[in-house]
Amino acid sequence: MSQEIPYKIYLSEDEIPTAWYNLRADMKKKPAPLLNPATLKPLTAEELSVVFCRDLVEQELDDTTRFIAIPDEIRNFYKMYRPSPVVRAYCLEKMLGTPAEIYYKFEGNNTSGSHKLNSAIAQAYYAKKQGLKGVTTETGAGQWGTALSMASAYFGLDCRVYMVKCSYEQKPFRREVMRTYGASITPSPSNTTEIGRKILAEFPGTTGSLGCAISEAVEVATHTEGYRYVLGSVLNQVLLHQSVIGLEAKAALDKYGVKPDIIIGCAGGGSNLGGLIAPFMGEKLRGENDYRFIAVEPASCPSFTRGKYAYDFCDTGKICPLAKMYTLGNGFIPSASHAGGLRFHGMTTTLSELYAQGMMEAVAVEQTSVFEAATQFARVEGILPAPESSHAIRVAIDEALKCKETGEKKKILFGLTGTGYFDLVAYEKFNNGEMGDYIPTDEDIKKGWATMPNVDL
Ligand SMILES: *Cc1c(COP(=O)(O)O)cnc(C)c1O
Repeated sequence: MSQEIPYKIYLSEDEIPTAWYNLRADMKKKPAPLLNPATLKPLTAEELSVVFCRDLVEQELDDTTRFIAIPDEIRNFYKMYRPSPVVRAYCLEKMLGTPAEIYYKFEGNNTSGSHKLNSAIAQAYYAKKQGLKGVTTETGAGQWGTALSMASAYFGLDCRVYMVKCSYEQKPFRREVMRTYGASITPSPSNTTEIGRKILAEFPGTTGSLGCAISEAVEVATHTEGYRYVLGSVLNQVLLHQSVIGLEAKAALDKYGVKPDIIIGCAGGGSNLGGLIAPFMGEKLRGENDYRFIAVEPASCPSFTRGKYAYDFCDTGKICPLAKMYTLGNGFIPSASHAGGLRFHGMTTTLSELYAQGMMEAVAVEQTSVFEAATQFARVEGILPAPESSHAIRVAIDEALKCKETGEKKKILFGLTGTGYFDLVAYEKFNNGEMGDYIPTDEDIKKGWATMPNVDL
C-alpha cells in the first residue's frame, strides 16, 4: 500500500473494541493455574471470590472464551480517552538515520498517565455491579493507585490504597492526585494490618515493597465487609482488559497495510505487553502470521532473563495464591531503581508460559541507558516518557540502529505506556549525572530463590 502514513493514526470512537480478546483461548498449552498454597490444588471460583469480585473471578479462570464483551458503561468511559493514537515516529527515525519504520501506541493521554486506567475502570465497574462498598489495592510508583482512584470516583466506590512507603515519601504529588479523587492512602508497611505489624517488627525501618503492600491490601479486603481486592497487573483479567491496546493498535496499522516485524514492550507484571501483543500473538499461535516479540525488563529486576520458571507467591506476606511464573523469589527486594512500575519479582503466567514455549524474547536493560533513550525520544517526539515506557524505547532504538547497519526496512511497534511528569526526581538524577546502575549479583538472586515455596509442579 503506497498511501502516505500520517504522524498519528487515529481511530474513531466507534472503532473502540466492543470485546476484549482473551489470548489464552488460542494457547494450546495453557498457562498453569493459580494454586491454593494450603492444598496445592487449583483455586476454585468460590475460593477466589473471597478476594476478588465475581465477574472478575470468572474472567480470571476463563481460558477458552476468545472474546468477552466490554459492557457499555466501561466502553463509554473508554470514550473519554480512547481510542489512543498510534504514532509514526518520523522524527525519531530521522534523528537515528534509520531505514526502519517506528510506530508507538501511546497510552499516556489520561490523568493517571498510563495504560492502567484500562483495567482500573473495568475492575471498579464489576465491583459496583456486585453492590460492593469499596476496593483495596497497593501501589508502587503510584500509577495504578491513581488509575484506581479515578475509576472508583467515577463509580462512587471507596478506594483504599496501600502505597509502598518510599514512594509515599518520594512522590507526594502522586499521593495528592489520589486524595483529590477521594482515595485514602496508607504508607506500607503500616500498623493498620497484622501482616504490616509483623513486617515492621521483623524489618524495622524498611521502606516497603510491592509484595508487602499487596499482603496488606488483601488482608484489609478479606477482613472488611463489602470490600474486595483489585490488582493492577499480573492477573489474567488485567491482561484481558489491556487487550484494548493491541486490538486498537492492530486496527490502526491494518488501515495502512502495516504489518509490524517486531513488537516491543516493557514488562513489569506483564499487563501492557500482554495487551499490546495479544491479537498479534493470537495470529502467531494460530499459524496465520509471524512476529518477533520482545519483552524489556530492568537489569535490576530481571524476572524473565534471570528468573526461575516455577510456582511462587505473588506477595511477600505469602497470603496470596501461588502462580507458576518466571520469578526472582517473593522475598527478592530489587534495588531502588526509578522504574517503580517494573519492580515486581514475578511475571504474569500467560507471558511466562509463552516465553517458556519460545514464542517471545526478553532482554534486560540498565537504567542509565534507558534514560539516555528517554531523553533522545523526548527531544524529538515531544512526549516526556515514563521511565518504565523508556525501557521499550531503548530496545526500539537499538533495533532501529541495527537496521541502519543492515539497511533493512523493518517495521517496529512499541508500547509507550505512559508519561513521566511524576518522575522528575529520576530525570533530575540522570541530568545531574548521579544515576547509577544496580544489577543484582548471582548471590542476591539465590537469596531471592531461597524464599520460594518448594512446589515441584
Ligand atoms: C505499571 C506500569 C508499567 C508496568 O506494568 P505492566 O503490568 O508490566 O504493564 C509500565 N509502564 C507504566 C507507565 C506503568 O505505569
